[in-house]
Amino acid sequence: MKVAFFPGSFNPFTVGHARIVERALPLFDKIIIAFGINTSKEEQSSLFERIEELKDYYASEPKVGVISYKDLTVDAARQHGAKFILRGVRSIADFEYERNIADINHELSDVETVILCAEPQYAIVSSSMVRELAHFGKDVSKYLVKKK
Ligand code: ADP
Repeated sequence: MKVAFFPGSFNPFTVGHARIVERALPLFDKIIIAFGINTSKEEQSSLFERIEELKDYYASEPKVGVISYKDLTVDAARQHGAKFILRGVRSIADFEYERNIADINHELSDVETVILCAEPQYAIVSSSMVRELAHFGKDVSKYLVKKK
């Protein structure tokens, strides 16, 4: 069984993240979307709300699971039976960052990282941009996944 662990902050989970999951579905038997818990970053209540919302969103897709984790990513991946980490890149800057993490994770374990390149129309979508726009009262709904 090929299980992929898709770790991130997902604050918020965007259409860019959703596309990575959708495109990776044919490659794996299961994809676990894993919210990294960093207590210093935000209120836990909002994190748990976002996790519940995403569980709802993927409720009809049995191949997708949604969890949170506190451990080192490779350890959490293995605990969930995942031999693959799934990530996405939008730019050279993303690539440099992702390659470093992938190298370290490979040093630490036998977990392989699979990286998908964002399609051009999703390459400008980032959680930080969505947060910034929302902060200034702009409509960000087109960047967020809607309940199916
Ligand atoms: P992190 O805080 O670990 O970088 P993010 O939630 O920002 O987590 O992103 C999780 C993963 O999704 C990262 O690999 C990131 O590069 C990727 N990603 C984010 N937005 C997009 C997008 N629009 N298209 C493709 N990949 C994306």
